[in-house]
Amino acid sequence: MIPLTVVDVRDAEPLVAEVIRSGGLAQGPMVERFEHAFADVAGTRHAVAVSSGTAALVATLEALDLRPGDEVVTSPFTFAATLNAILEAGATARFADITRADFALDADAVAAALGPRTKVLLPVHLYGQPADLGKLTALAAESGAHLVEDAAQAVGATFDGRPAGSHGVGCFSLYATKNVTTAEGGVVTTDDDALAGRVRLLRNQGMRARYRYEVPGHNYRMSELHAAVGIPQLRRLSELTEARRRNARRLSEGLAGTPGLDLPAVLPGREHVWHQYTVLIGPHAMLSRDELATALAARGIGTGVYYPRLVFDHDCYRGHPQVPDASVEDFPVAARMAEQVLSLPVHPSLSDAQVDTIVATVREELGA
Ligand SMILES: *Cc1c(COP(=O)(O)O)cnc(C)c1O
Repeated sequence: MIPLTVVDVRDAEPLVAEVIRSGGLAQGPMVERFEHAFADVAGTRHAVAVSSGTAALVATLEALDLRPGDEVVTSPFTFAATLNAILEAGATARFADITRADFALDADAVAAALGPRTKVLLPVHLYGQPADLGKLTALAAESGAHLVEDAAQAVGATFDGRPAGSHGVGCFSLYATKNVTTAEGGVVTTDDDALAGRVRLLRNQGMRARYRYEVPGHNYRMSELHAAVGIPQLRRLSELTEARRRNARRLSEGLAGTPGLDLPAVLPGREHVWHQYTVLIGPHAMLSRDELATALAARGIGTGVYYPRLVFDHDCYRGHPQVPDASVEDFPVAARMAEQVLSLPVHPSLSDAQVDTIVATVREELGA
């Protein structure tokens, strides 16, 4: 069996044991160590560790002081957390279509979605490749909107040589299957001292001095145990990412020319960290996307579909006062991607032989 993800955090045992022996389990010096190491990776002055990627997004949007009716423009091709965070922060979601090349927000579509209430542009760096941060940074500046990056899948990726999460306010996830994990966790990255301060306040019940509350807050703290799990991965992040890149290259070389299959591209000026290696199964392929996934599963190869529907296209969001009446047809590129995407294993624990098995099996199933 070649699973889609393998979680290997065995190198964290000594640090976790150190926390257990210390008896100090709640947010403390280990979390601070984790934050310093993460700020190095993100290239920012501040990294604020929180309890999840969703919490990172909610705290960031709340720290930007959105009012009811203020709008956040984001991608319809994302995990529910992106949308749920907007709703929890009290803002209104707006969607713009994506591009086929990077599965992320299309800057022209964003420009068309801007309105007088637009307060935040929220691109999602899907699968580990940054969205078009050049154009989106310019659009945000022109329109007076904040740029918040959903970098949950893109730790270590770069755009124009600068890390994801350092162009706008960065929101990262440390969920179990993400490129860096603490089991559950998240991080907010920024150079803005005041914003980092507000996120720290919101993380700890709005409390600065003991039992003096400055704003209604949350418990979004990370534990020492979680931080200890993450620190060793940050130390060897470039090695882990390089293994993903090597696997992605080997997959692309092996799968080139397979009929009906479109391979993922890395766009100029961007460094991809391959959270997912995602191919498109076109309408003329020998098998449909779902048939191929079933065939691969039967032959021991795990795959994933991220995501099978547009994020707003679920009954719980229909008629929601903070979700505009959107229809799938308004986002033709995203709608087509939802039908065609299939992610293949690319994680750093794969051997070359396993990558070659994936290549050979996919080619065989598609009649190459
Ligand atoms: C994982 C993820 C999140 C949420 O992170 P959690 O840590 O699960 O709360 C948000 N956005 C995207 C795109 C993600 O992949």
